[in-house]
Amino acid sequence: MTFATPSPSTPLPPTDSTLWTPARVLVTRSAYELPHGSDIVARCEAAGVTDIELLSGDRLPSLRADNDRAAYALAKRTLAVVVAPPSKRRLQPIPPSADWRIDLAQGCPAHCQYCYLAGSLSGPPITRVYANLPEILAEMDQHVGRGTVTSASPDRADEGTTFEASCYTDPLALEHLTGSLSATITHVGTHQWGAPVGLRFTTKYDGVAPLLDLPHHGRTRVRVSVNAHEVAARFEGGTAKLPQRISALRHLALAGYRVGLTIAPIMPIPQWRESYRRLLLDVNAALADVPAVDLTVECITHRFTPNSKDVLLDWYPRTKLDMDESARSRKIGKYGAPKYVYPKDTMAELRSWFDAELGATVPMARVLYWT
Ligand code: SF4
Repeated sequence: MTFATPSPSTPLPPTDSTLWTPARVLVTRSAYELPHGSDIVARCEAAGVTDIELLSGDRLPSLRADNDRAAYALAKRTLAVVVAPPSKRRLQPIPPSADWRIDLAQGCPAHCQYCYLAGSLSGPPITRVYANLPEILAEMDQHVGRGTVTSASPDRADEGTTFEASCYTDPLALEHLTGSLSATITHVGTHQWGAPVGLRFTTKYDGVAPLLDLPHHGRTRVRVSVNAHEVAARFEGGTAKLPQRISALRHLALAGYRVGLTIAPIMPIPQWRESYRRLLLDVNAALADVPAVDLTVECITHRFTPNSKDVLLDWYPRTKLDMDESARSRKIGKYGAPKYVYPKDTMAELRSWFDAELGATVPMARVLYWT
């Protein structure tokens, strides 16, 4: 992989990135005793957080609120610094994205009305960041050279053993408060591995400046989560605006990162072809002059489960998100739970349009999967 040097005409990375400031930070005793935990506390202080509570033990206090909505709002404003227990450090396969899932945190400060985390995490959605990062990273070595997703795919073997860091969080959303993502990218880029390794994560944030000069050595693929402008503006509260995300994608590509698009969740909104075409044109305009850009695309259509629908309607009771079961096909998921996806004909129409349009509008893109 070649490392491109930004030309003098390259615009500087945005300095007004969308950065979350928690209203309250809770720090467990064990987390604070670890160097990375106390470093996170210092970063939170530097970010202007004034309500930082060092707990006397390792249990988080329950959040007192009058109702579910208030509990949700309080949790979303709270960051907890904790130690990931062994069960959370155990790496799991994560098809179709990667061989293994690696969690640097759990939870996300954004307010997407279709959030993938709804229904998969229990309790109020406090964002928990892990202070025992060295222990988490140490788990990777024993998984290198093993895996059933990208490692077993002839088309994706060039990615090495892959580790996905955005299953239960948006790691870039928290980077200014933790530094965990930069440490992980640097570790993956500089550690002596027994076989090729690839780190991957996806984000709806744009604060990429701290990542640009890291020794990533082409081993990290950053995907930017994008959508039709109408979907992003209506349903993705608290995230960076779409043009800023696309600008971040350009800066990452110029810094030699492998990059990607996570187009998700795809929705057949009115005039969806025009809306998604505009998105793809914007992406192409941002990347067309980047030398040797390595761009992949992952396409994920909107889906929901009975459980995620209940949780989302609690969190966003006035949402306009379409979750009408009668207009969907019911499928049984991997663990036996039902999920609602678009009917076969709609899926086929979306898929054939995206296949053709990606080829025509973003010719350097390589589609990894459609679901
Ligand atoms: S950015 Fe991702 S994890 Fe965060 S709220 Fe949105 S969908 Fe959920």
